[in-house]
Amino acid sequence: MTATSGKIILHLDFNTYFASVEQQANPFLRGKPIGIAGKGRENLQGGFGRVTVNGLNPERFKRSVITTASRQAKRSGVKTAMATWEALKICPDLIIIPGDPRKYAQITKRFLQILRSNCDEVEQFSTDEAFANITTASGGDYLGATLLAERIRNQVRDDCGEVATVSIGVGPNKLVAKLASESVKPNGLTVITPEAVEEFVLGRSLADVCGIGPRLESRLGAMGVTSIATLKKVALPILLREFKQYGLFLYQASRGIGPDYLEDDQADPLSIGQSYTFPYNLSNELEVKTNLLALADRVAWRLRKQGLAAKKISVFVRWDSFSGWSGSRAIKDPIYDGRELTDVGWSMILPRLRSGTINTKPGAMSFELAVRQLGISVSDLIQLDTAEPLLKKDQKKKNTLLALDKVSAKFGTGSWQRLSTLCTVFKERVSGWHYDHED
Ligand SMILES: [Mg+2]
Repeated sequence: MTATSGKIILHLDFNTYFASVEQQANPFLRGKPIGIAGKGRENLQGGFGRVTVNGLNPERFKRSVITTASRQAKRSGVKTAMATWEALKICPDLIIIPGDPRKYAQITKRFLQILRSNCDEVEQFSTDEAFANITTASGGDYLGATLLAERIRNQVRDDCGEVATVSIGVGPNKLVAKLASESVKPNGLTVITPEAVEEFVLGRSLADVCGIGPRLESRLGAMGVTSIATLKKVALPILLREFKQYGLFLYQASRGIGPDYLEDDQADPLSIGQSYTFPYNLSNELEVKTNLLALADRVAWRLRKQGLAAKKISVFVRWDSFSGWSGSRAIKDPIYDGRELTDVGWSMILPRLRSGTINTKPGAMSFELAVRQLGISVSDLIQLDTAEPLLKKDQKKKNTLLALDKVSAKFGTGSWQRLSTLCTVFKERVSGWHYDHED
């Protein structure tokens, strides 16, 4: 967790991702203000799946929002999460494109492949962002790291096209790498050596730090903290008193100290996991639990599909910052049911949620502990056959699950679902839509 632990971390981030991918796919859209609309896709019919607004009734876009705006659209003031009708009002030439998650998923897969073939470890952070540990791959120094980053950027250009540009940042930890990639857009390559970290971080603004949102920024502002430099002057006990464990994150962030470990879900082929970055922060327990169940059901389905059952369960939670928590537990009776996976996972997560709760209303969490990302994985896998249940009721449950799996195999994984997971955000991802939450 220090700025000088010796690791070299790279952060890659696509610029205006969905919009760039659409402009890459369709030369007609290049250089033009375009907005990718999420939701309300049924209202957006047209040749090549695109709609120009001229002559169209804005009523048709009433319910949709802009998930990504092209650079040209941003210049006119169009922003992410703006209602589409509002965006059309300030930018009448805006071309609205219905989002095409499959197209973006393809590009995501490609850039992750490039990172995996070049780096030691890779952690996908969102649809268009990933961290990579390049300590060994770079030869352990920043010259090697710079050359490697340049090579990765060229490969991304060759594989994903030159319109869909990326910004890359390199530094001794995730915090600095992300700040670095975001400091130059588009098409940036910024390398911050350990010696340069302190000065670089002081030059960034509070809002640049991933984990300092508008609410936290205004709370800091009320204390007279309006820059990284002023934040650095606040003593740790004061930060801890004001922000509980988040105070430590703030203290370290102002010094360029951040985590340098990666959660590489492909590093261990003997585990199966599913994680999800939510389009907004989850702030109540029920919401977290039902989303965990939706994720666990996916993991359990993948387990059974391979004829496996698990004897170890791991969960991780990322708060609305870089900080996160993970834990795992070995279990005696092998599990292959999503509900049981959830029970074990939840028993580990719940105390963490409650330990940091400032708001004492039951079921409510403080905003510092709002959940940004949730993951569950299983390991220590054994053959499902050898996990034969002894009790009759367990045998019945197993038969039911296997019968449901046959339905899923035939009609797709969305063909049945637990009632309790119907309202989860994760479901939207399964049904094909999620947000590009940042640029
Ligand atoms: Mg981006």
